[in-house]
Amino acid sequence: MQYKSVIEILGAIKKKDISSSELTRYYLNQIKEKDADLNCFITVTEEAAISKAQEIDNEISKGVIKPLSGLPIAQKDIFCTKGIKTSCGSKMLDNFISPYDATVIEKLNNAGTIMLGKTNMDEFAMGSSNETSFYGPVKNPWDKDYVPGGSSGGSASAVAARIVPCSTGTDTGGSIRQPASLCGICGLKPTYGRVSRYGMIAFASSLDQAGLFTTDALDAAVLLKEISGHDPKDSTSSNVDVPDYYNYCINNDKKAFTIGIPDEFINDLNEDVKKSFYDAVKILEGIGCKIKKIKLEHTGLGVSAYQVVAPAECSSNLSRFDGVRFGHRSDKASTLEELYRESRSEGFGKEVKRRILVGTYALSAGYYDAYYLKAQKVRNLITQDFNNAFNDVDLILGPTTPDKAFKIGEKMNDPIAMYLSDVYTVSTNLAGLPAMSIPMGFKDKLPLGLQIIGNHFDEKNILKLCHLYQKETDWHIQEPNC
Ligand code: GLN
Repeated sequence: MQYKSVIEILGAIKKKDISSSELTRYYLNQIKEKDADLNCFITVTEEAAISKAQEIDNEISKGVIKPLSGLPIAQKDIFCTKGIKTSCGSKMLDNFISPYDATVIEKLNNAGTIMLGKTNMDEFAMGSSNETSFYGPVKNPWDKDYVPGGSSGGSASAVAARIVPCSTGTDTGGSIRQPASLCGICGLKPTYGRVSRYGMIAFASSLDQAGLFTTDALDAAVLLKEISGHDPKDSTSSNVDVPDYYNYCINNDKKAFTIGIPDEFINDLNEDVKKSFYDAVKILEGIGCKIKKIKLEHTGLGVSAYQVVAPAECSSNLSRFDGVRFGHRSDKASTLEELYRESRSEGFGKEVKRRILVGTYALSAGYYDAYYLKAQKVRNLITQDFNNAFNDVDLILGPTTPDKAFKIGEKMNDPIAMYLSDVYTVSTNLAGLPAMSIPMGFKDKLPLGLQIIGNHFDEKNILKLCHLYQKETDWHIQEPNC
């Protein structure tokens, strides 16, 4: 494909160098050719995509151009899509056709995008490898024996494989940044509240946030503007102005950011990741950034706190799947209690059951103070560490993940090892901060990610720094041969 980025695609459509229908057919063919193997998609919405593309072409011929007219996109199957199966990667919702669109979907539809389909994901977004999906694992396009990361593995792998130009994801503890890192693309998790959660199937409501996968920072800037903003249907969405991220990235003079590097993010890193990381730091120093060592003392407790808070919230959120109102209903039951038990036993997979059990336990009388309340206190300390750090620095830098991708199957029987994939990502969710992962090199031919964390609602400076870095490097334009 000669148009590589979202920006190039939008430019070509606007100039009528290519029609939306041609583009859509190109990407649908790519999906047909490559996805049988990669397994990025749960549902491909071919017919709807072709007819929407025609509609957009008609609009364009009449001079109507919307901000994202004709742009093909893939949506994580956690977002409700009207009239289209919305499974959340679970047998529980295998038969669920959503009666309405999530706000993110509605906004992207209204901006002129063409949805190509719904992407594979860990069941109810619980996982770091995409192996907990009812629809089977997704493969990493750089090496198909390896995981793409999770939970938004399908969305990340599809962008990395260039079978879609961009996609949506959600990040509760790292599910955008970790797969972006393992697949060698950009993954942006906005500030909690920046993007509406309405119609996004809830995992842990105080942590969940919708975001994006793209190949470069400017593409993310263009898309973020379209999905952001206050939504009266989500009481936790914020009424903070949405800047023109793209213009901010390209128009402002080069900015000398002060960047903090927390000891806690680099002390235990292996030599290869450390080397790539410090190469990236050198590049940033070269463009005028000042580097400062900082401390995030409590960040090491992030995974422990997260693994109490997230399961606690999920145990409550997932109680709605009872075999009565939504999704799978067992035909083995003869009493109401059996209906609940059998439907949930059959509908949920092992990891989801584990989280519900842990969460129910942590919230139960007598244990609430010892676990849930304690975890909330740790969460406060982690947030305070970040607040203190942002008194001295503009942005915080670290690796996204402790290592490159791991093999399919390698960590499935070791949940603790799996949970530790998120050691550098969960703290920002606990603090509600925005963060982005961008490619910074390779280890054994598998990508590594650089994580940039910003202060609340400061996505613009994260994007700007990423853009400045990408002007100096070419990691983001390297493509897997898949
Ligand atoms: N990997 C983390 C988990 O398993 C984060 C998931 C997510 O961000 N949705 O919970």
